[in-house]
Amino acid sequence: MTERVFVLDTTLRDGEQSPGATMNKQEKKRLARQLDTLGVDVIEAGFPASSQGDFDSVQEIAQSVENAQVAALCRASEQDIDRGWEALSQSRRPRIHIFLATSDIHMQYKLEMSREQVLEATARAVKRASGYTENVQFSAEDATRSDRDFLVQVVQTAIDSGATTVNIPDTVGYVQPHEMYELVLFLKEQVNNIHQAVLSVHCHNDLGLAAANTLSAVQAGARQVEVTLNGIGERAGNAALEEVVMALRVREDAYGVQNRVQTEQVYPTCRLLSLVIGQPIPAYKAVIGGNAFSHEAGVHQHGMLMNKQTYEIMTPESIGRPPSEMVLGKHSGKHACKRQLKQLGYRLNEEQHTQVFEAVKRLADKKKQVYVEDLESLVLEEIFRIPDRYRLLYLSSLSGDMAIPTATLKMEVGGKECQTAEFGAGPVDSVFNAIDNIVGQSPNLLHFTVSSITGGTDAQGEVTVKIEQQEQTAIGRGSDADIIVASAKAYINALNRLARKEEKTVWDTV
Ligand SMILES: [Zn+2]
Repeated sequence: MTERVFVLDTTLRDGEQSPGATMNKQEKKRLARQLDTLGVDVIEAGFPASSQGDFDSVQEIAQSVENAQVAALCRASEQDIDRGWEALSQSRRPRIHIFLATSDIHMQYKLEMSREQVLEATARAVKRASGYTENVQFSAEDATRSDRDFLVQVVQTAIDSGATTVNIPDTVGYVQPHEMYELVLFLKEQVNNIHQAVLSVHCHNDLGLAAANTLSAVQAGARQVEVTLNGIGERAGNAALEEVVMALRVREDAYGVQNRVQTEQVYPTCRLLSLVIGQPIPAYKAVIGGNAFSHEAGVHQHGMLMNKQTYEIMTPESIGRPPSEMVLGKHSGKHACKRQLKQLGYRLNEEQHTQVFEAVKRLADKKKQVYVEDLESLVLEEIFRIPDRYRLLYLSSLSGDMAIPTATLKMEVGGKECQTAEFGAGPVDSVFNAIDNIVGQSPNLLHFTVSSITGGTDAQGEVTVKIEQQEQTAIGRGSDADIIVASAKAYINALNRLARKEEKTVWDTV
């Protein structure tokens, strides 16, 4: 029988720590449901003791996820574990995930604890968590830079105290693939109770080796991989789910293990994350990038026409990436719209269906064809993007080579309507000046890009902006058939994210 590898997704915890990837509760819940559809085994939903917002998100995800286990991250302290359990208690399959650093440098400078103290704290924390649930994971933070013999002692202690999964994080992205392989083998040989737990790895991508290290560990016998969608995460990110899962699938012959991820949901899930956090997927990104399946070189195209397998190791369909096609038009009815949404995996209520359908009609008035990508953008704009503090109500912009660019706009700020008009160097500048005027802030604009969601001159423009204020940065995204309106939406989205960020607290990382 082929062995099983468990997939733990930490997009909502480690992933959310990446710059500009802050998500609100609704967005996290939507992603969690999609991760459940994707078929990951464990969804790490957050770090309940880090903030009230995180606690609430974990609690709601724990209640709403149907199949996957839901994990909450906790430091090795009683308060954290109790708080974590409080958030998880209504989950069908809860997991408490405790972390504690085991490298000399972390113990000395961060924890100010001796090795003996770390061993004691490990035992105490895991026992406390085991009192709540049998499903306890322990992570030895900075494991790859820890003394190997000490690591053996810690892992053994964690398992003796009740841990059923033991995770070996490469917290700083330092390890090399052959070293990871040796480390996993070493632990399997030296830890005498290792068969009582699942050995897991969590790799960071600082040297671009996160996926390679994860796969090396699997080859050596690790049976849980910790990954994030699109590889987002602290610094250079985590091992990307789509890369690890597809390597295991396409090269099943090399690894000989199975997992229960539905690969046809890989692309829709990654695309959803990209829409939610407003960060486009780079064209050259492995598996999910825009160019991942395009063949430009003539000799390649010729080969592809003769036999697809000449240059294709996996099909776009296998990751759920259908060719862009028109799904709805001006004359499509509400039923067709509903059916499409259902096919895309959205579970909306009647009122939300009407809301999306109205938006489809408005868009179809401006452009003839509405594509899958358009529909997903609309769902996000209409349903999942809960505008917090600021909302755009009306915008009119004037520009051209004979006019002074002027923008008139009306916004809702904390429930109150405000309007103003401003000039600028160009139409986008005048709109941003008007928004600054209304919200009473003027952040630095670090980055501004426009791209089209689909082909054609009537395509919806997708604008991404990055702003900075008092050393805080935020990314915002907006789409519309009119790129000036899309720019305004993106800028307001970034301002909302910046406002949310101010409420966040600083937390530790694994
Ligand atoms: Zn991490």
